Parts: sequence; C-alpha cells; structure tokens
Amino acid sequence: MQSESQFKIIGCGNSESLSHFNNNALLACSAGNLMIDCGHTAKQALHQQGYSWSDIDAVYITHVHGDHVFGLERLAFESRFKLNTRPTLFLEPSLEVDLWEHTLKGSLGNINGERQKLTDYFDVKLISENSFRYGPHTIRSIPVDHAPDKAAFGILIDNYLFYSGDTKAIPEVINNLTFEIGFHDASIADASPVHAHFDALQAAYPSDVCKKLFLMSYEDNWQLANKDIRGVFAGLAYQGQMVALP
Ligand SMILES: [Zn+2]
Repeated sequence: MQSESQFKIIGCGNSESLSHFNNNALLACSAGNLMIDCGHTAKQALHQQGYSWSDIDAVYITHVHGDHVFGLERLAFESRFKLNTRPTLFLEPSLEVDLWEHTLKGSLGNINGERQKLTDYFDVKLISENSFRYGPHTIRSIPVDHAPDKAAFGILIDNYLFYSGDTKAIPEVINNLTFEIGFHDASIADASPVHAHFDALQAAYPSDVCKKLFLMSYEDNWQLANKDIRGVFAGLAYQGQMVALP
C-alpha cells in the first residue's frame, strides 16, 4: 500500500551554497506539512518544489543559525498579515531564548509601536522530553554535536528516518538509534570544525550505518574532493528527493 506520508528534501546545501538552497526538509502527512528548519532561502526553495507559505502548517527548528531559521521572519509576517494564519512552531525549550530574544525579536518584536511576542506569530509548542507527535508520527528530537555551547538537534521519525541537522560525527548517538534511512550533515570538499566531514563519518560509523546515510549540507564544489560517495554512503541528498514513510 502506498504510504500517505512523505519526507522531502527542500534544500541540501551548506550555509554558503548558491546551488542547493539551505539544508531544510518537509514532512507531509495527514496532519499537514511540517517544515524541518526554515532558512533564508526557504521561500524560493519551497516555490521550486510547488509549495508556498500557505502550505506550511508547522515548523520544527533544529538550531538557531541563519540557514535554518532566518526564513521564519518571512513566514511569520506573511502568515500573520497576508494569510491570517498562525503556523505551529515545535521548539526545543533550549532554543527559545536564542530564537526569539537574540534572533527574531529585532524584526518581529515591534508592530506600530506595540510589543509582540513569538506566540503572536506562531502557535508555539515547546517540546517535552525530546519527543512530540505530528499526525500519525512520533518524532524524537535527538541532541547532536554542532558548535560549542550551542544547542542543536536532529530528528528521528518513527524509528525509520533519521535526519541529523547540522552536526559533527556522533557515533555515540547514531549507534544507539534504530532507523532504516538517514540524512546526515557532511562536508565533502572542505573541512569545518562544526560539521561532519566525509572522511570523519566514514571513520566513525560502521559501514552498514554509512550505507543507510544520504549526505546533505554539502558544498557547491563537493566534486573537487573526488570522493566515491556511492561506494560508501547511500548517496547525495538532492532537492526534491522524497522518501515514503511507512
Ligand atoms: Zn548550523
């Protein structure tokens, strides 16, 4: 039977990418469309995939960097003043202060001299115990290891699909997860102190785990590294890639 739920890659480039949009995704199911991150390229990337803001019912944020949250400003304004909607925002409590006080408030916090709150734009659902439900799906928020002293999360959907968000290699985490298909942050051509590198992933994870992983958040010039992706990993994620969820 064809699954009714799909996980879709909206963008798969690193923060500098001109070719692959921000590393954002979308879960489409009976409850609606849940974006996984909403970066500064989100509106254009969604448009290329046939979506507009009116199709976005909810957003989950992995961490507070521009390629993952700056699109929220546009979603907030257009939802409130153009669409008259208030999308759901699933948020880990540890991200709340950075997201509102230090990121969005400067733009969204004042309308005609009146102070605004995050809840004036979004139906904020703070996540309890790293888990929430969306439609028929159980989504676990998985703490990952991105930048020092910065909270960051991946997600695990129904013990079937793992999506790392931005992270370095996390063998102590990933080896304790059950999943069939994964999407994992990977620098390929360049080294970064806050992202997993292709070689580090290959060294840190068992080969059967690597074979389940599509690499994402890669550089525009990844081909320069001349790595044999398909021999080691499931492949490269690409914009529009869809995974049917059971
Ligand atoms: Zn990041």
